[in-house]
Amino acid sequence: MKLMLALSKLYPTLSYAEKEGLLSELESTYSRLPGTTCDQCATCCTVPPPGYLIEFLNMFKYIRDNLADSQPEIMEKVVRYFFLELVDINVKCPFLDQSNNCLVYPVRPLSCRMFGLLSEKDSHLGSRRQLDTVAEKYRQKYSIELPREVVEFELQYCDQVRPANGGKKKVAIDLIQDMATNIENLEAKIMPQQVIDEHYTFVPMATHLALSVLPEGARLRRPKVMKEYMEQGSSEVLSNYTEKYKGFKF
Ligand code: SF4
Ligand code: SF4
Repeated sequence: MKLMLALSKLYPTLSYAEKEGLLSELESTYSRLPGTTCDQCATCCTVPPPGYLIEFLNMFKYIRDNLADSQPEIMEKVVRYFFLELVDINVKCPFLDQSNNCLVYPVRPLSCRMFGLLSEKDSHLGSRRQLDTVAEKYRQKYSIELPREVVEFELQYCDQVRPANGGKKKVAIDLIQDMATNIENLEAKIMPQQVIDEHYTFVPMATHLALSVLPEGARLRRPKVMKEYMEQGSSEVLSNYTEKYKGFKF
């Protein structure tokens, strides 16, 4: 995975985004969606959906300013997620707490917010996770056979999402597309379009965070850790990383 925003650039970029009002614009874009409630089963957090870089900055700031006590737990889970998301289906979104609450709910990305709000027809769910290409790469390059339950995981449509204060449940796909365009325009103000086009900047929030915090040496050891974990059910290298990076200061 390519590094998108090194820590040395993250803080100045965050300051710039705040100064230019980009995070306020992001919040105002989010407010176009109705608040919702659901059964909180956390199935949709099994495989966290992707988010934009500007959404990651917003979340980083929130964790820094509001979740000091939870930061070690978050970082430990983020590091585990980075190394194990492809080999252990039980590794859920790192921002989920033990009571199935989202620790970053006020700043969760658009893709989390819209889940269950579109009609089933517009949701494009039920398709495979499209990991076949990734699985083939790991097979050829690292002799790692990714578990079928990970490669073939399917997120089903959820009809348990309810509006928090009544009103119409389903949201038009046009609104979501318009919101996504707004967010892309905000992102283009913090990152050159060429970089956005060349790098894959639309990844889960936990991946954004891991890519920014973990140094290149650690990121390159991902296949080794995956292999070790699959063979032994644990990894000493991973334990060392989780221990080290749970002390990360936001
Ligand atoms: S949106 Fe649906 S799948 Fe996700 S936590 Fe709520 S009830 Fe579960
Ligand atoms: S950010 Fe929150 S809502 Fe989204 S997948 Fe993670 S825990 Fe679930």
